[in-house]
Amino acid sequence: MPINIAIDGPSGAGKSSAAKELAKELNILYLDTGAMYRAAGLAATRAGVDPLDAEGASRVCAQSDVRVTLAADGQRTWLNGEDVTDVIRTPDASRAASKVATVRGVRDAMLALQRDIARETDVVIDGRDIGTRVLPDAPVKFYITAAPEERARRRMLQQRAEGVSQAYEEILEEIKRRDERDGTRAVDPLRPAPDAVLIDTTDITLEEVVERMADICRAVFREGYYGRSE
Ligand code: C5P
Repeated sequence: MPINIAIDGPSGAGKSSAAKELAKELNILYLDTGAMYRAAGLAATRAGVDPLDAEGASRVCAQSDVRVTLAADGQRTWLNGEDVTDVIRTPDASRAASKVATVRGVRDAMLALQRDIARETDVVIDGRDIGTRVLPDAPVKFYITAAPEERARRRMLQQRAEGVSQAYEEILEEIKRRDERDGTRAVDPLRPAPDAVLIDTTDITLEEVVERMADICRAVFREGYYGRSE
């Protein structure tokens, strides 16, 4: 049985950084499922289909080839044979992803791809519904969160470092809108699995978050196969 570690939570809580570091620490791969929704959103946009149009978005998704390749130096995401790893990082792609992610047909397709990967690979899986729906039996589940104001502050600093400037209030509004959409959607809303370990990163550093997670993983896997690849 491969090692699967499920990590969910809202965007900007430091979830992906923590998930990546944890994967490194445990010497296993990292799967970013958000990138798959971003690729599906891009597919809809390119086909001229509104990502909120359930029928249209499901059709485009069924006709598209969304794939990921995982490696120790990072994931690459592919759409119909094209490497879209960088293209899907724009704010537009982000919005399209969060819209297309409300569509059941799209979610079912992504879920099947994610389970296929998890069945064969030791991975830390980062998403919104991993512990609740994709892998409800994962032996370790984390739910990483932080206050919206702190997430907005971090996003602003990150944007500044990238040479992008957006007003704090605007970023905060966007975060709240996205939380609302992810948390209230009818299909697989964002919420912690009942047995997830909750970590609030508002007042702790990334190193502390990773250390806490790694300790828990080690404790869970101690008796089994943890560390076998080292
Ligand atoms: O994590 P990231 O910001 O790249 O995700 C983009 C969007 O994809 C999120 O806003 C969310 O709506 C959606 N998503 C999801 N389920 C996942 C991963 C991402 O609904 N497992």
